[in-house]
Amino acid sequence: MKYYSTRHLAPDVDLRTAVTKGLAPDRGLYMPEKIEQLEPYFFAQLAHRTFQESSFEVARSFFGGDIPSEALQEIVYDTLSFQTPLLEVEKDVYSLELFHGPTLAFKDVGARFMARMLAHFLAAAQQTVHVLVATSGDTGSAVANGFLGIEGIHVHVLYPKGKVSEIQEKQFTTLGQNITALEVDGTFDDCQALVKAAFLDEDLQSRRVLTSANSINVARFLPQAFYYFNAVAQLNPRGKKIVFAVPSGNFGNLTAGLIAARMGLPVERFIAANNRNDVVYQYLQTGHFEPKPSVPTIANAMDVGDPSNFVRILDLFDQDHAQICEAITGVTYPDEQIKESLAECYHQTGYLLDPHGAVAYRALKEQLRPDEVGIFLETAHPAKFTETVEAIVGPGNVPMPEKLHDFLKGEKQSLPIGTDFSQFKDYLLSLKE
Ligand SMILES: *Cc1c(COP(=O)(O)O)cnc(C)c1O
Repeated sequence: MKYYSTRHLAPDVDLRTAVTKGLAPDRGLYMPEKIEQLEPYFFAQLAHRTFQESSFEVARSFFGGDIPSEALQEIVYDTLSFQTPLLEVEKDVYSLELFHGPTLAFKDVGARFMARMLAHFLAAAQQTVHVLVATSGDTGSAVANGFLGIEGIHVHVLYPKGKVSEIQEKQFTTLGQNITALEVDGTFDDCQALVKAAFLDEDLQSRRVLTSANSINVARFLPQAFYYFNAVAQLNPRGKKIVFAVPSGNFGNLTAGLIAARMGLPVERFIAANNRNDVVYQYLQTGHFEPKPSVPTIANAMDVGDPSNFVRILDLFDQDHAQICEAITGVTYPDEQIKESLAECYHQTGYLLDPHGAVAYRALKEQLRPDEVGIFLETAHPAKFTETVEAIVGPGNVPMPEKLHDFLKGEKQSLPIGTDFSQFKDYLLSLKE
C-alpha cells in the first residue's frame, strides 16, 4: 500500500517510510491510498470475534501487503493486551471504555501499536533509534509505556519542570529501562523547541538516528479504528442507527472512526464533541476553518486550537463541506456544562465520567434522535484527573485504580536540563549510536 501526502506536493511512499518519517516532506499528513470495504462475512462474524481477532482483520486491510501476516498478528495481539468494554450507562447511551491500557487513556492503543511497528521495521538496523517526545503530560506517558522494553529503541521524554501533575510525571519518570525523562527548566513550548531544533540539526542527524512518536504518524492514527469495530461487535442496536460521540482535540480519534465507517462499519453519524476550543464546530457552522490559539479548559487534552488531523477529514471528503456536515455533527461546551453533565451522570446513574468523556456524554444526551443509539468514547479514567473530578463529585469519590497506584509507588528519576540546545545536543551525542 502506498501513502500519499494530504498536500499532494511530495512523492507517495511505502509504509516503512511513512512510519519512520511521520510527516511528509511537504509538511502534509500521510493517508493510505486505498480504504477497502471489508467483506460482508467479516461483519456477519464480528460479534463472535475477539478484539484481537477483528483488529487483526482490520490491520491486514491496511498493512497486510507490507508486513508478513505472522509479524502483523504479533504486533496487533501484543498491542491489545487489554479490552475496550462497552457499558450501558442508561437507555441507548453506551460508554466505550478506552482506559483499560497501561496508562489509562486511549492513546495507549496507538502508542503501543506504533512502537511495535517501528521495532518491526528497524529490527535489522544496527543502530539504536532515539525517539524524542515533548509532552505537556498525557502523550509522554502513553508513548513511554508503549515503547517500554522495545529492543533497539530508546525514548527521551522532555517535559516542563513543575508543570505536570504528580500522577502524570510518575507515569514516565519511574520506568527505567529504555526510557529517559528529561526535566526541562522551562515551559512545554521550550520542550517542543528543543525537539524541533534536534530534528533540524544536520550534524546531529548524521550522527544519531532520531525519530518522533507524534500523533500524526499513520502507525498511531490508523489502529484507533480497531475499537470502533469492537464497540459495534458488543452492541445490540435493536434496529436503531448507531452514532459515535468523540471527545476531540487533535481529531485523530474521530478521523479513525471515519475510516472505520469507510470500511463498512454501520455508523449513521459522528458527533465531534468539543470543549471551548471549537474551531471544527465553527467550520461545520460556517464552512471556514480558522485556527486560533487554544484556551485552557478542564478537559485539557482537548485544548487544541489548530487540530492537525483536520486536513485528513477534508481529504477524506474531498473538501466538501456539505458531505462533512452529513457525516459529522458538531457541539461545543464550556467548562460549566462539562461539570454539570459529569455531576448529573454520576448522581443519576452512578457512572463516573472523566472530563473528556463528559463532553461526549453530554453531546449524546442533547443530540440523540429517537431512532438512534449512541456510543460515547470514554477516553481516560477519571482518576487521571482526580483533582478536577473530586471538585465536582466530592472528595473520596474517585477510586484510584491499582495501575495508577503502582506508578505512584515508583521512584522518580529524571535528568534536569536547561532550555539551551547545545546542552541537549551534548546529551544526545553522549548516547549510544
Ligand atoms: C488526546 C486526548 C483526547 C483528544 O483526542 P484527539 O485524537 O486528539 O482528538 C481526548 N481525551 C483524552 C483523555 C486525550 O488524552
